[in-house]
Amino acid sequence: MSKKNKVTVIKDLNCLNCGYPFTRGEKFCPECGQHNRGKKLP
Ligand SMILES: [Zn+2]
Repeated sequence: MSKKNKVTVIKDLNCLNCGYPFTRGEKFCPECGQHNRGKKLP
């Protein structure tokens, strides 16, 4: 599976830390505060 071709609207479907399901591409997990993976903020 290639991970290079990915839509940038939503970074990850689930929190990398606790697995909380991101529904709208939140920047931070509301459950544990884990920063959603992605490019650094401007
Ligand atoms: Zn989390």
